[in-house]
Amino acid sequence: MKIINHRLCRDDDTPYPFRVSPNIGDTLKPEFLVMHYTAGRNFDQSVSWLVNPAAKASAHLVIGRDGSVVQLVPFNKVAWHAGSSSWQGYTGLNNYSIGIELDNVGIVNPSPTGDFRSWFGDAVPVEQVIQAQHKNETISRYWQLYTPEQLFVALEAAGTIIQQYGLKDILGHDDIAPGRKSDPGPAFPMMTFRSRLLGRSASVSDEGETYVTTANLHIRKAPDQTAATLPNSPLPLNTRLKATGMENGVWKEVEVLDNIKNLKGQIGWVHSRFIVAK
Ligand SMILES: [Zn+2]
Repeated sequence: MKIINHRLCRDDDTPYPFRVSPNIGDTLKPEFLVMHYTAGRNFDQSVSWLVNPAAKASAHLVIGRDGSVVQLVPFNKVAWHAGSSSWQGYTGLNNYSIGIELDNVGIVNPSPTGDFRSWFGDAVPVEQVIQAQHKNETISRYWQLYTPEQLFVALEAAGTIIQQYGLKDILGHDDIAPGRKSDPGPAFPMMTFRSRLLGRSASVSDEGETYVTTANLHIRKAPDQTAATLPNSPLPLNTRLKATGMENGVWKEVEVLDNIKNLKGQIGWVHSRFIVAK
């Protein structure tokens, strides 16, 4: 990816689709990247809402669950994604940040039929759900997972933006509006984004290297998102893993080191985006 005239483009210079949002402010000199989830029904509806004047909201990018990208606001214009917010002496983070929305319903609740329901009642399959405690809360809830395709694209877009504008940090909406906002929440691998994009820790892939999970992470029988998971998957956040040296694309074969959920000593495949070298 690259940025031309404040528009996100593919490597061949073709811009990603652009839908003009009227919900914008003045010129932006961004210093931060702020990550969000849409809490919407789907990508198209979220995009339609964010270009509707009635929303009084927007974001620079929206990224779908299949990795689709649409830009709504050029990166040199203020988008209305943060609302009332503050961070380290900054207030009103719209004026200092680029906002990326990820298509994700956010908090889900168990239903009597065994799956989960979004806040607006749509079914969310159990494979798309993790149980986790939000860093601003003391109780555990259920959250829709982001997809690997979506996070892969988000990571690349975030890296391109951070480099182009020399941004100093990646924040969650829940960092700058704690209590009021829960997005992007515990299903978002913020530690991975920070370590990969801000150079806060190196990534090594040597055999025997120890890793730690940066999200609740499924461990699978084969290097494929549709492969069966090991019993008691997913691995909790901060589970220690040892690489076997086997790799397949973004997948890495690992042995579980922690005595957790009866998985110690088990070997399986994990998506390498959500582990960091320890
Ligand atoms: Zn948000």
